[in-house]
Amino acid sequence: MARYTGAVCRLCRREGMKLFLKGTKCTSDKCPIEKRNFAPGQHGRDRKAKIVGYGLQLREKQKARRIYFALEGQFREYYEKASRTPGVTGELLLQQLERRLDNVTFRLGFASSRRQARQLVRHGHVEVNGRKVNIPSYQVGVGDEIRIRPNSTRLSVVETSREFASHQPAPSWLSTEPNTLSGKVLALPKREDINLPVNEQLIVELYSK
Ligand code: SF4
Repeated sequence: MARYTGAVCRLCRREGMKLFLKGTKCTSDKCPIEKRNFAPGQHGRDRKAKIVGYGLQLREKQKARRIYFALEGQFREYYEKASRTPGVTGELLLQQLERRLDNVTFRLGFASSRRQARQLVRHGHVEVNGRKVNIPSYQVGVGDEIRIRPNSTRLSVVETSREFASHQPAPSWLSTEPNTLSGKVLALPKREDINLPVNEQLIVELYSK
């Protein structure tokens, strides 16, 4: 499936904030946002206009999409499904994004970024309930057990991530077992469990026009 393959730091600069897309680099002084916190491109420095209305809604949607590496069509499908489900549409939208297997692999601390987690899933290093799943957008459910496949636990990328994850506790809706690189979904994530700089209500307003 098509996906964004350009420089991800440009995405942060476009949104004017850290989206934490590159793991350890994001917390180091090598993060480009630290030195060049303006939009990329020739006229990036000149764009100072205050964003309001539609522009603001669009930026919130792009921010959420970029954090989770979701394509536009797929993101809209999440919205359509959320709007058909009883409950708060914005919260249900974020919940589906959080339940993606690549995100859960990242949240469990098996990768230092969602992008790296996505690659682990795509390359067949992750299993759900004992079966290999290589679809990053796979939706995990309550009770699912996720783990790095035994033959993959010695990968250097996994070893590095394990160290990184030891400083990042898993969210309360997941339980993790760092020694065996496994974890379990205890409950579906609620809005307060999803610590993201995104105003989902603006995304709902954008799509419901
Ligand atoms: Fe964004 Fe991380 Fe790149 Fe900084 S290092 S600009 S936070 S992706």
